[in-house]
Amino acid sequence: MMNFNRTTAQWQELDRDHHTHPFSDPKALGEKGTRVITKAEGSYIWDSDDNKILDGMAGLWCVNVGYGRTELIEAADRQMRQLPYYNSFFQTSNPPQIELSRLLSEVTPEGFNHFFFAGSGSEANDTNVRLVRHYWDIKGQPKKKTFISRHNAYHGSTLAATSLGGMGYMHNMGGEGGSLLPGFEHIGQPFWYLEGGDMTPEEFGLMRAQELETKILELGADSVAAFIAEPIQGAGGVIVPPATYWPEIQRICKKYDILLIADEVICGFGRTGNWFGSETMGIKPDLITMAKGLSSGYLPIAAIGMQDDFFAVLNGGGDINHGYTYSGHPVASAVAIANIHYIRDHNLVEKVREDTGPYLHAGLQHLVDSHPIVGEVRGRGLMAGIQLVKDKASRTTFSGDEDAGTVCRDHCFSNNLIMRGVGQSMIISPPLTISRIEIDELLAKAKICLDATGRDFG
Ligand code: PLP
Repeated sequence: MMNFNRTTAQWQELDRDHHTHPFSDPKALGEKGTRVITKAEGSYIWDSDDNKILDGMAGLWCVNVGYGRTELIEAADRQMRQLPYYNSFFQTSNPPQIELSRLLSEVTPEGFNHFFFAGSGSEANDTNVRLVRHYWDIKGQPKKKTFISRHNAYHGSTLAATSLGGMGYMHNMGGEGGSLLPGFEHIGQPFWYLEGGDMTPEEFGLMRAQELETKILELGADSVAAFIAEPIQGAGGVIVPPATYWPEIQRICKKYDILLIADEVICGFGRTGNWFGSETMGIKPDLITMAKGLSSGYLPIAAIGMQDDFFAVLNGGGDINHGYTYSGHPVASAVAIANIHYIRDHNLVEKVREDTGPYLHAGLQHLVDSHPIVGEVRGRGLMAGIQLVKDKASRTTFSGDEDAGTVCRDHCFSNNLIMRGVGQSMIISPPLTISRIEIDELLAKAKICLDATGRDFG
């Protein structure tokens, strides 16, 4: 029988002794001790000392409908009893995965009518790599195998997803290039605030987009399969490309017959004020990756959406020798269906676009205008990045060694607020159900933590 009644110290000791955490230094974490989260409701989580904490990150950008929604819980319960598992290999299917596919064809952008399921965003991006290479092979262009992405991009943590991503410290796990597969290339990111120098954002956006053309010409268009990017880069620091960026990327992909993959793992399901970030940024991708908000994180499930033209090629191409035991898991699919209905029934997308998104950004803009260490605020809808700076006029940020992001994150923990530090930016991505009153609380606590961080470096 599982014992849930342990003290915080006991949980921490067991955690240190037996549990290895993702993206953490085990020794340092063991010494510091973990924060043990025991329950959640709405926009709040509670830890094992019964502190009530405002979750400004919706878990890991995923709990879009907020915690404790009975509609999702009951959907899981019903499906567990009806059919807890069956696979979709070997000519079998099940009602939840069929119904979820149909529902996704309603909420995804026009032309997306075919869906392949996976268990996580990383698996879904691996799936993109395999299906895209299969696609070009069927089309008689088997040399088109290389993927181009951006430095500082995050597309997941499997080997292919790590390689698609542009995080040097991930590529170098296992020694220099130890986690980087061949066939993955990277260009600069459209992060004007840090890298734009004296250029206007528009000039810089164009310049960064044109790096794609340079890279394609260097590699040869007949060897490039696809370009992948998030509409708004999330884990990189909520980077909204300048207005000139996406139209130029789209033009280049079309000119050289390169597929465009929009990784919507964070941006999807209402986060940016539309169902998908591609709509917010005016992009027309061939493939989209979905996870996180697809089930609001209640159960692991991910999907890739394929444009009709793309699927038509696969449809004539013979066996797809790819799939996962949990592709289209019936319980996860049932939860995803309930989640999409919840988003629709509560008009969450419109609420983010017209009410809570603008309200959050107005509050954050006040910080830009008034706070000495806030250089800019980026984002759309309920997705925001606060840039921490030493000097606003010269756009000078804190150094990696100073690590103001982690300092500020620790102040947030102490003030019962979850904001994530990414480099020298603080990230906000709350449940889409957050109320104006809760946003006021978030902004007030954020200010306290920014003040404390400013004092630490003052
Ligand atoms: N793609 C993006 C844009 C992400 O932000 C993430 C996770 O944060 C992933 C892919 C990977 O998803 P997962 O952690 O479910 O494998």
